[in-house]
Amino acid sequence: MARVTVENVKKYFGAVKALDGVSLVVEDGTFVVLLGPSGCGKTTLMRCISGLERLTDGRILFDERDVSQIAPKDRNVAMVFQSYAVWPHMKVKENIAYPLRLKKVQRSEIEERVKWVAELLHITELLDRFPSQLSGGQRQRVAVARAIVHRPSVLLMDEPLSNLDALLRVRMRSELKKLHEQVKVTTIYVTHDQTEAMTMGDKIAVMNAGRIIQFGTPEEIYKKPRTIFVAGFVGSPQMNFLKMKVTSKDTQFFAEGFGMSIPLKRNPEREYVIVGIRPEHISLEKKSRSVPVTSKVYFAEKLMSETVLHLSLNEDKSIVAKVPYDLSVKEEEKIEINIDLDAVHLFDPSTEERIEL
Ligand code: ATP
Repeated sequence: MARVTVENVKKYFGAVKALDGVSLVVEDGTFVVLLGPSGCGKTTLMRCISGLERLTDGRILFDERDVSQIAPKDRNVAMVFQSYAVWPHMKVKENIAYPLRLKKVQRSEIEERVKWVAELLHITELLDRFPSQLSGGQRQRVAVARAIVHRPSVLLMDEPLSNLDALLRVRMRSELKKLHEQVKVTTIYVTHDQTEAMTMGDKIAVMNAGRIIQFGTPEEIYKKPRTIFVAGFVGSPQMNFLKMKVTSKDTQFFAEGFGMSIPLKRNPEREYVIVGIRPEHISLEKKSRSVPVTSKVYFAEKLMSETVLHLSLNEDKSIVAKVPYDLSVKEEEKIEINIDLDAVHLFDPSTEERIEL
């Protein structure tokens, strides 16, 4: 196991800045998720850590050791990809044993380790099958078993669950997380799926355009997103953003617009602010610290566990609220909604960065 330090890493492909100065410390034994939209540089960062890509600039260290110039095979990293990279002509047990055979590990130890990892991944009964005789989920388990059987210092997983159906993905999510708790190998996991990131990561690095925008625990990312990009990327349905004017009365400052007036703790020292409100922080009941606003129901999306209301605030601005399923509202009906004041976020309209009041 190892701590992974990425120091101001740049990776350019001609004019494309796939990584544009990335710094990150993944503590020994933790599970870190790289989250971001397609093309933001997640895979490139993984390939740099594994040694498959040469860095344009910067350094990568495993503990104190600079591995930037070290060949992939000498870094002791294991990778699991979206496609199940298992050898079709080898039985499951041979597939798993392969990295150990390459390292010339003794036969008795190979047997012991294959048994250990097969039990961990619940594939003992599959050891004598060929990959073609396995389901997608089973094949991915074999790929994971093969990756961890030689106890790598670092385990890199690049969208390992995206070829699986939704139900299996949820199950594998918790299995991989449990597996990590048992083996505690330093793990870096790539996904563009925010639910996967929020449920699996000890910490999440949110990436955009070749940079890390925020690195924090799932709770920090959700409760204190550093930018509008992070706020909009994490959370479902997406956070609502409303540009409002800053006003004041006596010593109290407000964000005003769309028929609401949100009291602010201090002067935000800007003419306008972007107010961010998550759909789950809008309710139909009045609370002691909420602000009421009138809206018109445009559309009610009835999901089985909740209802997602699309509400018009005026002719060209709408807002989304997540409310309990058993609520009865009609389209075109005017309703009063209440915004939870303690969960309101503020952002600067020009820099799009969080304003902490
Ligand atoms: P996805 O979720 O779609 O896999 P990603 O976040 O993993 O995306 P990368 O694959 O790291 O993104 O790509 C980052 C950027 O670098 C993209 O603009 C991509 O087109 C570019 N890129 C990646 N590899 C190469 C390459 N070998 N040559 C040229 N450009 C590349």
